[in-house]
Amino acid sequence: MELDACTHCGTCSVRCSVNVIFWEMHNLTILPSEKLKALKSLALDRPLTERELGIIQEGSHICTGCHRCTDVCPVGINLQDLWLSMNEMLALKGFPEPVVSARQSVAAHYAQKDNDRELIVLPDHGDFQQELSSSIQGPTFWSCYRCQTCTNACPVVANCQDPVAELGLLPHQIMHALALGLKDEALAAGMTWDCMTCYMCQEYCPQGVHVADVLYELRNMAYRDFRAGFASSKT
Ligand code: SF4
Ligand code: SF4
Ligand code: SF4
Ligand code: SF4
Repeated sequence: MELDACTHCGTCSVRCSVNVIFWEMHNLTILPSEKLKALKSLALDRPLTERELGIIQEGSHICTGCHRCTDVCPVGINLQDLWLSMNEMLALKGFPEPVVSARQSVAAHYAQKDNDRELIVLPDHGDFQQELSSSIQGPTFWSCYRCQTCTNACPVVANCQDPVAELGLLPHQIMHALALGLKDEALAAGMTWDCMTCYMCQEYCPQGVHVADVLYELRNMAYRDFRAGFASSKT
């Protein structure tokens, strides 16, 4: 009923806390009035392509839960509850939180590789180090001298029974992998995704390496690749 009550007046979109992101990502479903239209399609079980579902998945999760849309809706629709239902519906269709899908995509890509292959380390590490250099914090990994202080300070590592088995590479090893140009190994490491951004690592790093921010950049990089995949898909 609430879906039918919407007059598509756009007030919620004008007041939405994250509407500026639309101009960067050009995903209409970021805007609450359009998110609601997408939700209607999901609720009515309209046939949607993988690409359309990917776009809705992204837009649906770009929301701070600030409640502004609900507060300003002139017909009193409780949008907050609808957003929660939308995320649940998407997860049931196999479109969970985008970061989860990006991680799964990285894992699938890595699983296709022969992990016993010889790793080749070349002076020219390709474009990804360039991409990491697009932020101020990203290239700080070059200053790492492998003292392991970051790993010793990390609560995620401390909470593992067997950190290497559970996390793949540890923070200092990820910084090392980046310097060696081993992008896939760094992206596939559980540590890259399980980091809880407490910033203890970079707080204690004697070299000023922005370890937590570098891990952020890696996740952003993986998401950009994942997004390019569904954005270019025609199905
Ligand atoms: S403010 Fe309410 S009625 Fe207007 S578009 Fe948003 S949900 Fe629909
Ligand atoms: S709750 Fe989400 S959709 Fe609503 S105004 Fe806030 S950020 Fe926008
Ligand atoms: S604490 Fe800093 S220098 Fe030491 S291993 Fe970690 S990132 Fe490298
Ligand atoms: S920010 Fe991440 S990597 Fe750094 S100490 Fe915290 S959990 Fe560990």
